[in-house]
Amino acid sequence: MITHTHPTLPDFDYIRPETLVEASEFLALHPNEARPFLGGTDIFVRMRDGFLAPKFLVDVKYLDGTNKLLFDLEEGLTLGAAVNMNRVIASPEVQTYYPLLVKACKSVASYQLRTRATIVGNICNASPAGDTIGACLVMDGVLEIHGTTGLRHEQLATFFLGPGKTMLKPGDIVTAVRFPLPPKESAGTYLKLGRNKLSDLSIVGVTVLGSPDPGLSSGFRFRIVLASVAPVPLVAAEAEAYLAEQAVTSESINYAARLASEACVPIDDIRASAKYRKLMVRNLTEIALTEVWKKLLG
Ligand SMILES: Cc1cc2nc3c(=O)[nH]c(=O)nc-3n(C[C@H](O)[C@H](O)[C@H](O)COP(=O)(O)OP(=O)(O)OC[C@H]3O[C@@H](n4cnc5c(N)ncnc54)[C@H](O)[C@@H]3O)c2cc1C
Repeated sequence: MITHTHPTLPDFDYIRPETLVEASEFLALHPNEARPFLGGTDIFVRMRDGFLAPKFLVDVKYLDGTNKLLFDLEEGLTLGAAVNMNRVIASPEVQTYYPLLVKACKSVASYQLRTRATIVGNICNASPAGDTIGACLVMDGVLEIHGTTGLRHEQLATFFLGPGKTMLKPGDIVTAVRFPLPPKESAGTYLKLGRNKLSDLSIVGVTVLGSPDPGLSSGFRFRIVLASVAPVPLVAAEAEAYLAEQAVTSESINYAARLASEACVPIDDIRASAKYRKLMVRNLTEIALTEVWKKLLG
C-alpha cells in the first residue's frame, strides 16, 4: 500500500462511453487498467488510499437502462445500476413491496452518501460488509450483465467469490439488479451493529426474511444472511434448514441463532475481534428472527 501524507487521487483518464457495447469493448480491451464505476463512493476511496490505481475509470451511469426503476406485479422490481439508494428509499413501490430493501439502504452511511451510492455498486464492490447485499440475497436478486457477447442474467447467490472478488469477467458491466415479488405475507429485517450510528461499516449485519410456507414441516421459511463474518456474505444455511423443520418457538429460534453463529468464520480487524463478532451474530440473529416471527404472527 502507498501511504501519502496528504491523501490524494492518483492520475486517471475519465471515459464516458456512449453505448453499452462501446463500454464493454473498452473494458475488455484494458482488463487490468480500466474499471467501471457508478457513484464512486467505494472506488475513489480505494484509489485515494492506494489500493487501486486504474489508468481508466469508465463511467457507466449514463448508459442505456441504467437509470430505470421499474415495478410490475408480475415481473417484480428492476433497479438500474445507476439508481442511487435515496431513489430506492423514496420509491412508493419499493416501500410497499420491498420494505427490507428500504431498511437496508437506510443503514448505509448518511443521506449525503446515499445520493451517490448505489445498490449495484455495493454488490460489485463485493465487500462482506456490504449492507444491502443481504437483502438482495434473501430476495433472490438476479443481476443483468452486459459483456462482450451481449446481455445475460446471473443469480446473485453465485456472484461472490471472495472479498472484492466476483464472477465478473473483463468487459462485464452490471446494468441492473432484478427481484421477483417477495413471497406473500413475508416480513423481514436488517440489524446492523457498527461502531457508531453513522457512516461506519458493519461489525456484524444480520438480514432475515420470513414467510409462511405450507410445504415445509414448520410451516415457515426463514432466509438468513450474515455480513462481515466470512470472506463473502454468508447464507446461514444450517439455521435456515433447522427452522424449516422445527416448530418455530423461542427455543428453536435460540438454537437457530447458535447454528448461525457456528457457521461464521470471522476475522479480527480494527472494528472487532472474531470472538465478539460470533457472539454478536448469535445475539442479533435471535433478535432478528424473533422480530420477524412476531411480524409473521401479526
Ligand atoms: C463515508 C463512507 C461511508 C460508507 N458507509 C457504508 C455503509 O454504511 N455500508 C456499506 O455497505 N457501504 C458503505 N460505504 C461504501 C459505499 O458507499 C457502498 O459500497 C456503495 O454502495 C458503493 O456504490 P457506488 O455506486 O458508489 O460504487 P462505486 O464506487 O462506483 O463502485 C464500487 C465497485 O464496483 C465496481 N462497479 C461499479 N459499477 C459497476 C458495474 N456497473 N458493473 C461492474 N462493476 C461495477 C467498481 O469498479 C468498484 O470496484 C461507505 C463509503 C463511504 C465513502
